[in-house]
Amino acid sequence: MPEGPSIVILREELAPFVGRRIARVEGSARIDQARLSGQRLRAIRSWGKHLLIELEDVSVRIHLLLFGSYRIDERKDSKPRLRLRFAEGELNFYACSVQLIEGPLEAAYDWSRDLMSTAWRPRATLKRLRERPRLLACDALLDQTLFAGSGNIIKNEVLYRIRVHPLSLIGELPPAKLRELVREARRYSFEFLDWKKAGVLKANWLAHGKSTCVRCRIPLVKAKALGRARRRAFFCERCQKRYGDATQLSPDEPSAVDEG
Ligand SMILES: [Zn+2]
Repeated sequence: MPEGPSIVILREELAPFVGRRIARVEGSARIDQARLSGQRLRAIRSWGKHLLIELEDVSVRIHLLLFGSYRIDERKDSKPRLRLRFAEGELNFYACSVQLIEGPLEAAYDWSRDLMSTAWRPRATLKRLRERPRLLACDALLDQTLFAGSGNIIKNEVLYRIRVHPLSLIGELPPAKLRELVREARRYSFEFLDWKKAGVLKANWLAHGKSTCVRCRIPLVKAKALGRARRRAFFCERCQKRYGDATQLSPDEPSAVDEG
């Protein structure tokens, strides 16, 4: 599943379409397609894993889910969920969720929760984390109400880098460690963006998909379904410290984890 930085790249790729008028709408998405025809693209934005195409009186929200993809000025063999055709060029989105959002996007989204946004507010995130002490560290980094845009890669890499065991309880992290978690989530997201653009994202993975801890030279643990979110995790039992005892089931589930 594409994480926030990949959606930022998509947003940047679509920037040349801003100002163009939609000539025709096609695809299998069950939305009022006729409504989009004739509208001009006012802006392309992103919030977490959502791509937002802002039109004159409505916005289109695209979520690529697990297997979504897109093509710009070219087509795949399969039927698109949404195709936007312009006098020059077209955008094709496949296997994704498409929804219309009414009203201004400023009101529809809390931009302070978006890891990649200039409006990102680390102090507000710290406050929200402190209110959920029974949340597992691995679940916190997948929760879109806390870290919109963060996904499984960011989760595994951030926890490894700050040496925190994924089954640690948020409420048991020392204050400095909690601040480090929030800081590193943002920092790593921008490294992810730069590395992905340079084609070296995987080459810079330290934990995700890896088999050996580069610090301890011992095998990493690979868990198939860790935490309440039950997502794949890679971590080192030796150098990633486990804060608190989460053997009792945590009552605090992640409130908004994307499917997959
Ligand atoms: Zn280690």
